[in-house]
Amino acid sequence: MIIAVDGPTASGKGTIAKRLAAHFGVPHLDTGLLYRAVGRQVSLDGGDPDSEADALAACAFPDVLLEDPVLRSEEVGGLASRVSIHPAVRTALFKRQRDFARAPGGAVLDGRDIGTVIAPDADVKLFITASVQERARRRWLEMTRTHIGREDEIPLAEIERDIVKRDARDINRADAPLKAAPDAFVIDTTSFNPDEAFDTVLDVVERALARR
Ligand code: C5P
Repeated sequence: MIIAVDGPTASGKGTIAKRLAAHFGVPHLDTGLLYRAVGRQVSLDGGDPDSEADALAACAFPDVLLEDPVLRSEEVGGLASRVSIHPAVRTALFKRQRDFARAPGGAVLDGRDIGTVIAPDADVKLFITASVQERARRRWLEMTRTHIGREDEIPLAEIERDIVKRDARDINRADAPLKAAPDAFVIDTTSFNPDEAFDTVLDVVERALARR
């Protein structure tokens, strides 16, 4: 059983995907973390995230980098969205994601192109979204709570501007842009707290699985 969870940054898709994986007892892959690792590795190498060659070289990042909390920072998120534009980077990360999705027993993957590119054969496809203002508020709360870097000092308006920029880059890129698969369930979590969002999603998933 493959569950694909896509959506824009800070929509809550990561938390939902993690909880779905725990509920169904299957592994979860946060694919954004792979792009974040590439972005971070480019910067460690002194490379240019806008250069396809530099970004491709950074795809050979060591696995231990995936454990580094700095990957969760806004700065690395911005780098990830720049390296993820390059088709060579997407191709380099494709097999790892596809193999994870196809492992026996099933999986939950979250990202931008899971339902459209990585696992178009997923049993259930979800597209989780929320308003820009609400996503900025959630991101700000998360930063304040986790104190990654000095980002708890970043004003809300700046986070909102950054989210708009990231959305535009993810939606408008030529290769695997952020969009809901035609057969995805689109769920807007703007007015939900995390438990309400999860309960709504679980209900949708269980109904979809029962119909299969
Ligand atoms: O989901 P997260 O914010 O961690 O992703 C960071 C960036 O990585 C996104 O803005 C997006 O540009 C890129 N990404 C992607 N495809 C995925 C997951 C993430 O292009 N499947």
